Amino acid sequence: MENKYRVQEEVGGQPYISLRNINKIYPNGFHAVHNFNLDIQKGEFVVFVGPSGCGKSTTLRMIAGLEDISNGDFLLEGERANEKGPRERGIAMVFQSYALYPQMTVFDNIAFGLTLQGVDEDVIEERVKNVARILGLTDYLDRLPRALSGGQRQRVAIGRAIIRKVGIFLMDEPLSNLDAKQRVTMRYEIAQIHQETGATTIYVTHDQTEAMTLADRIVVMKDGYIQQVGTPYELYYKPENVFVAGFIGEPPMNFVRDTVEKGRIRFGENVIDLSHLLPADMEGKEVVFGFRPEAARLTDAEGGIRIESMVELTELLGDNANVYLKSGEQTAILKVDSHDTPEMDQPLSFWIPEKSIYLFDGETEKVIG
Ligand code: ATP
Repeated sequence: MENKYRVQEEVGGQPYISLRNINKIYPNGFHAVHNFNLDIQKGEFVVFVGPSGCGKSTTLRMIAGLEDISNGDFLLEGERANEKGPRERGIAMVFQSYALYPQMTVFDNIAFGLTLQGVDEDVIEERVKNVARILGLTDYLDRLPRALSGGQRQRVAIGRAIIRKVGIFLMDEPLSNLDAKQRVTMRYEIAQIHQETGATTIYVTHDQTEAMTLADRIVVMKDGYIQQVGTPYELYYKPENVFVAGFIGEPPMNFVRDTVEKGRIRFGENVIDLSHLLPADMEGKEVVFGFRPEAARLTDAEGGIRIESMVELTELLGDNANVYLKSGEQTAILKVDSHDTPEMDQPLSFWIPEKSIYLFDGETEKVIG
C-alpha cells in the first residue's frame, strides 16, 4: 500500500517534524514517554493511539511546546526546536474541551486569534468566511455557542485553529465530547478539512476506529513506548506483536495461548497441528495463536484449520453478527454474515484459513517469522 503523503525526497530530503529519542520524566519522577522516535512528512496525517495513560497527550504536548522535553531532540524542518515556544513553532491545537467564548458569536470566536494579532478587518472577514465554508458554518456565523449542537461547537473550535494558517495542526481527542453519530460525521469532516488544507496533522485518540479511518500512519503506544508505526493496512494485516494485534480491529483478534507439543497446541477441546507453520525451536515453548473474528469461515471452502465449538451467544448487528463461542475453557468471537447466524447453544464447526493465522512468541509477544 502506498502512503498518500508526499515522500521524503519531494520535501527536500528531510522530514518536516522529527522526534529523536524523546523522553518525558515528570517532576514527580514518573517516566511517561520512553525513547520516542518518529519522522513526520509535510501534509501527513499521523494518529497516536493507545489505552489511557500510554503517553499520547504527553507526547503531543511536547510537540506543541506546552510541556518540556526531558531529553531527546525535537526538530522542525531539520532544526532543533526544543526551546521554541508554542507560537514560534507554527502550531495550532484543538483540545478535547473546546471552550468557546459564550458571549461571542461564532464569527467572533473564529476570528478571535486574528483580532488579537491586529489583522485587518477585511482580511479577517474573508478568512472567517472561507473557514466557515470549509466547516459548513456559513449559516451560523451570527449565533452564540449556546445555540449550537455539540458537533457545531466542535467545528467552531476547529475553525479557530485552522484560521491561523499554521503548518501543523495538533488535535487531542477532539471528538470525545460528541455522541456516537456526531463522531462519525465529524470524523468525515476532519478528513475533508485535512484534504482541503493539506496541513500536517497529529491527532491523539484512544479509539482505534478513529485512528484507522483518519490516519496516513498510526503510532500505537503502550506504557510510554511505541509498539508499532505503520499505515492502517500494515497494522491490521502485519501486527508486530500481540498488543497491536489485539488493539487494532473490532471485535479484537482472538488469541489462544498454549505450549507447543509435537508441533501442536490445544484450542479448548480441539488439537491443532501447527508443525508446518512453526519454527522447530518453538517446540516446548508457549505460543500465541491469533485469528480475526472476520477471518473465520463457516464452510470448508477455503480449507484451513477446523475447530469444533459451542455457540454461547449471538449478536445481530445488521449486515453481520457476532458469534460468541466456547470450546472447553477457550472462548472466541466470530463475525459472520447475519444470514449465516448460527443457533445458540448448538455445536458449530468453523474453519480458520491458514493465511489468516497469526503466530506470536508467548514469551516475547513478538510475531513469529
Ligand atoms: P489519556 O487517553 O487518558 O489522556 P494519555 O495516553 O494521553 O492518556 P498522558 O496524559 O500522556 O496519557 O499521561 C501519561 C502518563 O503520565 C499517565 O500515567 C499520567 O498519569 C502521567 N502524567 C500525566 N501528567 C503528569 C504530571 N503532570 N505529573 C506526573 N505524571 C503525569
